[in-house]
This record gives sequence, structure tokens and C-alpha cells, in this order.
Amino acid sequence: TPSTPATPPISSSSLSNGWFTESSLLWPGQRFSLSLDGHSASSILHQSTTPYQSILIFRSSHYGLVLCLDGVIQVTERDEFAYAECMSHVPMAASAANNGSARRVLIIGGGDGCVLREVLKHREVEEVVLVEIDEEIIRVAKAYLTGLHKGAFDDPRVRIINQDAFLFLMSPTSPAGTFDVIINDTSDPCGPSAQLYSPDFFRSMYSHLNPGGCVCSQVESCWLNRTLAADMVAASASVYDAVEYGMIQIPSYPTGGIGFVVGAKETEEGEVWDIL
Ligand code: SAM
Repeated sequence: TPSTPATPPISSSSLSNGWFTESSLLWPGQRFSLSLDGHSASSILHQSTTPYQSILIFRSSHYGLVLCLDGVIQVTERDEFAYAECMSHVPMAASAANNGSARRVLIIGGGDGCVLREVLKHREVEEVVLVEIDEEIIRVAKAYLTGLHKGAFDDPRVRIINQDAFLFLMSPTSPAGTFDVIINDTSDPCGPSAQLYSPDFFRSMYSHLNPGGCVCSQVESCWLNRTLAADMVAASASVYDAVEYGMIQIPSYPTGGIGFVVGAKETEEGEVWDIL
């Protein structure tokens, strides 16, 4: 019997001649490269493979430390703040404007700790639950990315759960409770993240929101895949009571930007409000 051909990975990267190069079927026809800082061997700080993904950390010449998962850049020291600040402060401010304060926050994914660092800047926050599927990414971030997360994982307000966030929220007996803000800081829509972009998961996040609370989800850049971004906004609009789509400028992501959706739940008084 003929063997089934192996499915090629969606994304991959190469390290050669002093350059890191990222390519993916999610952004066909284009590649992104960063020059390494020094010789390849000395600029690579960590490489491992977990049951969920491959992890690479290297030092680049102009973007500082870079974390890649399955060959795709997740954060660079130079520009991660643009993503982490938008993904956290926009929903935190929107929820606080409506509810007075956002005290209980859920971060889905977020294993690099950058969004966590920003959420913890809000002094009214009492608990942040971070549900990250891969405990190895947190261990590696703690070892190599201290300058990024700045010790956020050790804040006494933080509870880390190493579990698939889909199972964590979707289980009928989920112990998750409800949140003022939910931040879906996950990877691109493939592999273990794919189901976190489904309408079912959006509905589940909505059901775990307090009245007046809101969700912020990474979605794709509208320059990269207009259909996917439009589908996400439409799926969000069918679930949340108010929805906005925004773009974050960040040079190390494909097309130099990434989209995000903020979706709100009506207040106890049944008010639906403008987010931005
Ligand atoms: N948003 C940035 C990006 O896409 O470049 C960084 C995201 S952060 C590193 C993404 C995290 O989501 C990863 O650490 C990954 O392990 C985690 N993740 C992926 N699928 C998950 C799932 N089903 N449940 C919980 N965490 C998940």
C-alpha cells in the first residue's frame, strides 16, 4: 500500500549565513529575515522541541532577543511593547470605563509573559489567571527573557495553569469562573491555537465574561488575509454585544502589523457601549 505523504509544516525557519529567515503558508510569497548578532553558534541561546512546538531563542543584531515558536517570531526585544501594550491596556481601559475597574483577568496563551507584565501594571487587578498549554515555554521565558517579562510570573496575583485553554474554558464543569477582561494572546491559527479562533471558543469566552467586561483577541493582519480577518470580525460580531477591529503596528510581524478584535458584553443594565 502506498504510504501517505507527510503534511509539510505550515511554517518554518532557517538559520544560515548569519541570517534568521521565517516563512509560512499563512503568508505565502513573502519571507522575513533578521540578521544574527555575531556568529550563528553564539547568537543562539536556546533550541528545544516540546510536545506542542519547537522553541528557538536567538540574539539578533538590531531587534535584540527574539523568541520563535515553530519557526515563527513571537516577540522581539525591540518591538514587543507595541503588541503587549495594545493587547492589554485597550481592553483593561474599556472594561474599567464601563465597570469601574477590572479586577479579575484571564490571559490565554501568553507564555512569554509580556502581556502579563502590562496587565499587572493595573493596581486594581486582584487576580490574573494565565492558561498556557506549554509549561516549557514559561520555563524558557523565565530563564532567558527576564528583561521582557520583568518577573511578572512571580507576582502573587498570578495563577498559572498549564492546560489547553480550549478545554479549560469549554468544559461544562470548568472551574474558570468569570472575568472582567479576557485576553486571547495566542499563536497563529494553526496547531494547538487553531481552535482558539473558532466561533465556539468566542462564545465560551463571552459566557465567562462579567457584565460590562470585554475580550481582546489577536486576529490576523487585514493586509495578510482579508478573508480571515473579516471572518473573525463577523464571528465576533455574532457573539459580542459590541465589536471593534484594530491594527497594531509592529515591524517584526508579517506585513508589519497584526489585527486584534475587542468584543464587549452588555452591562447589568443592558447597556451596550462604544469600545474605542
Ligand atoms: N501573540 C504573539 C504571537 O502570536 O506572535 C505571542 C503569543 S504567545 C507566545 C502564544 C502562546 O500561546 C504560546 O506560548 C503557546 O504555547 C500558547 N498556546 C497555543 N495554543 C494554546 C492553547 N490551545 N491553550 C493555551 N495556550 C496555547
